[in-house]
This record gives sequence, C-alpha cells and structure tokens, in this order.
Amino acid sequence: MSLAESPESGTGQNTGPNNPESAVASPAGNAGDAAVTGPTAAGFRPPANRLHDTVLPVRPALVDRGTAARMTPGMLDDLLRSGGVQAMLLSRRQALVSGDGLVFVDAAGLAARLRGTAYAPEQVIYLGAALPAAGVPAGTQFVLFILPEQFEVHAEPFEQHVEGIPAGAQWAGFREVAAELDPTDTALFIEASAIANWHASHTHCPRCGAATAPEAGGWVRRCPADNSEHYPRTDPAIIVTVVGPDGRLLLGGGGPLDSRNYSTLAGFVEPGESLEQAVIREIGEEVGVRVTASQYLGSQSWPFPASLMLGFTATTADTEARPDGVEVTRARWFSRAELQDAVLSGEIVISSRLSIARALIEHWYGGVIQDRPESA
Ligand SMILES: [Zn+2]
Repeated sequence: MSLAESPESGTGQNTGPNNPESAVASPAGNAGDAAVTGPTAAGFRPPANRLHDTVLPVRPALVDRGTAARMTPGMLDDLLRSGGVQAMLLSRRQALVSGDGLVFVDAAGLAARLRGTAYAPEQVIYLGAALPAAGVPAGTQFVLFILPEQFEVHAEPFEQHVEGIPAGAQWAGFREVAAELDPTDTALFIEASAIANWHASHTHCPRCGAATAPEAGGWVRRCPADNSEHYPRTDPAIIVTVVGPDGRLLLGGGGPLDSRNYSTLAGFVEPGESLEQAVIREIGEEVGVRVTASQYLGSQSWPFPASLMLGFTATTADTEARPDGVEVTRARWFSRAELQDAVLSGEIVISSRLSIARALIEHWYGGVIQDRPESA
C-alpha cells in the first residue's frame, strides 16, 4: 500500500503474494510442512487421518472496523473534520491504484476538491483503523469514497481534483491487481468491495420499497417510511475438495468439454441448510458423488459480488463421478503425482494462488504445487 503522508509507505513489501504469510495469496503455504512434521504445538496430537492434521491458517484482521465507534451519530463527519484520514477511491467496482498498491489520499482535502464536481463521492463509508500488524502506523484511519464517475488521472488541462494523486495511478479491478497488493491493501479492497456492492444492490426497503439512507458510517441503511434497519448481507458458499477411497482428489470444471481448467467443486448454501448438508447436496447434484464425511478447513471472503467461501474437505466411497452437464461438464480424479504432472505439462490449469480453491487443493496435496513456468 502507498499511504499519503506516511513515512512508512511501502513497508509491507516483504509480505507480498509469494510469502506464505500473506493474506490470501497462498493460505496453504504451511500445510505441507505441518503434514510432514506432525504436531506443531506441545501436547497437540493430530488425528490419524492426514487430511485432518491441519487446517488452513487463520488470517488475523489488519483493520479494526470500529463497530461501536461507527454507531455514534455524526461519526464520519467528525472524523473527516479531525484530519489525517486516508481515503481509498472506488468507482464502478474498480479502485484507484498506483504501482503495486492502493492510492490513499487525505480524505478531507480530497472531499473539498471534489465538491461540486461530477466526481463528488456519492457515499463515504468508514473502513476502520489500522491494527499494529497492518504495516502502516497503528491507528491510521481509513474511509472509502465511492465516486459516481472515474476521473482521468491525467486530466488535461490540469484539474484540481487530481492534485496529490500519483501520476501513474489508474483504475483497476481486484482480480487485475490482487497478486501485487500487500495484505493490508488486499483486506481494504475486499472490505470496500463487499460494503460497496451491498449498498449498490440494497438501495430500497425490502418491506415497503421506499429509498433507504445509509447511517452508522455506512454499515446500516434505514428506511425513512417504516424506520426499519437493514444490515450488510453475505452469501455463504461451500467449496470442497472431494477425496476418494484411494486418496485421489476429484476436480471438476464447467464450460466447454475441451477446457483445461479444473478446480474444486462449489455451490451456494440454501436457506435453512447447514454447511455440511450443503456439501452433501452440492457434490451429489454436481457430480453424483455421495459424500460420507466432511471437515471445515477455513474461509475466504470473496465479495464479487457478495460471497463468503467456506472451505471443506470431504471423503467419499464412490470412485465414479457423473457431471451434471450443467454446472459441471468435466470431472476427473487425480493422484498427487498425476495432478502435479498435469499442471506442469499444461494439460490442465488449476486455480490461482489467490484463491481458497488452491489452498484446499494444496492442503490435500500436502505442499505447494508447482505452476507451469510462464515460458513453457
Ligand atoms: Zn420501509
């Protein structure tokens, strides 16, 4: 991340996507080690099943969202008046980025420059304060400006609203820049996307249809007609490595039959359903495989537009998979050696290191799966 007015700008570089400790880049980085070396904490004895001897590492929060503080009426206005608040900019699901980080601008100054222009924020949302592990001065306050329009960074003639914005800045979607972002920028981009997508799709009261208005720093919307409060929503989805009786992994894919893309199976949890029930139902529907046991391994927020991916590994006694031909057109079992060979040869492509799918696959694999070299 690059912080305006921050002497520690760029200090998060050493926790980039290739570092096993980075936020979502390679959550399974330690899984292989744990699988080989066994107990990592004194007195802890893992179950005999090697699938169960570790879970994906928990990612600590890097931003204190101030859930109590943001309930104070007028909190955002007071905060902006106090100065020193960093604003990230989002418009049409893209954030302003520069180099390998988000662009942060002094919020009060930028708000003043944008006032009366086509770029005046349609919404300001409180994102939180940096925690000690964030790689920026602890307590740094972050807000999100959602702009109705994307201004040109290189506006000619020079426009006042771009003052203080790096010349190399550009608008970019999360997928385009995720591999470059440090963990704090990643966390802020994810949080900003999640709350912005909720606002964009929940503009009216589901009870009476009246237009609702944001409050509580942008974390509640209230209906002026019936006074009902509405809170941000997240859609749970399960994502699963299915392991057969011989230890092989079942991967599948949608789309054209000759596609090389294979990944874990996934689906949304239905209302009134437990996660474990969703695992059994989705795997049964998608590939006709009966799951006999499942274990939760970890989660990843994926707010594009509103998902929370809940990672499981599941076992089955079945050895045959029958894709439904709709969501899943291809399914295939892999031994560890077969999977690594197929990836290296380019025969198949598996999910990127940014995804929990990759973390789940590597958890099963017991270590890092080597990608096919770019030049090959
Ligand atoms: Zn209403």
